[in-house]
Amino acid sequence: MKELFFATAGIPLSTQPYDTLSGIKRVRELGLDAMELEFVHNVNIGKSLAPEVKKIAEKENIALTCHGSYFINLNSMEKDKKEASAKRVLDAARRAWDCGAYSMTFHAAFYQKMPPKEVFETVKKELKEIVSELKSEGNKIWVRPEATGKASQFGTVEELVALSKEVEQVLPCIDFSHLHARSNGKVNSFPEFSSVLSLVEKELGKKALKEMHCHVSGIEYTAKGERRHLNLKESDFNYVDLLKAFREFGCAGIVVCESPSIEGDALVLKKAFNGL
Ligand SMILES: [Zn+2]
Repeated sequence: MKELFFATAGIPLSTQPYDTLSGIKRVRELGLDAMELEFVHNVNIGKSLAPEVKKIAEKENIALTCHGSYFINLNSMEKDKKEASAKRVLDAARRAWDCGAYSMTFHAAFYQKMPPKEVFETVKKELKEIVSELKSEGNKIWVRPEATGKASQFGTVEELVALSKEVEQVLPCIDFSHLHARSNGKVNSFPEFSSVLSLVEKELGKKALKEMHCHVSGIEYTAKGERRHLNLKESDFNYVDLLKAFREFGCAGIVVCESPSIEGDALVLKKAFNGL
């Protein structure tokens, strides 16, 4: 992508009537650039609606991303749950692609007290199968395991970068607020944000910084990690330094705002970034 686009995590709250097509138009009215389709409880766009979503998004020049199901654990011990998880990733990736979405993210797995290296190998194997299936269908959506907010969840930046090196069509979705929460308050300054972006650049190349899909919100956390999302100005998350790091590294792609005030804070981010 050429620029950094700012997105709402879902249909803007001020959308009337509250549906996907109106949501895309509302994003345009608000002066934002992108919207994340929230398939977090189910794939909530029907097969017949998907081409319309694509058409409206193209007409309004709104980029789309997708967040897959919350009920995914590619490291489940139970075979049927693991298979159902892979199917949920595929179902979301297929429908999102039909909607014209650029990238799809999801929380890949839980460690379940297993050694992280072992979990990594399991997730890698599952992702390879998922991507090979998508490729065979001509589906080129970016498949993005997300940097997660709790130590019990698979998904450190290092793990995601390593996965991206080994599996085609995979890049990390970096949730910077999750990194901040997971580290119990660290990852909150220009040097710390820069070191995350440096790692991505060093391991995956400049191209990865031009194809970003990241999440930002205010966040409340404990020693165990993420507790809940907050609006930026109610939290200690240093989004200004993050935006400065995006500028410094010439990042492009999509920044999705997951604060409770999705459009309010997406606009805060966009205005702050443009003012730098
Ligand atoms: Zn997420």
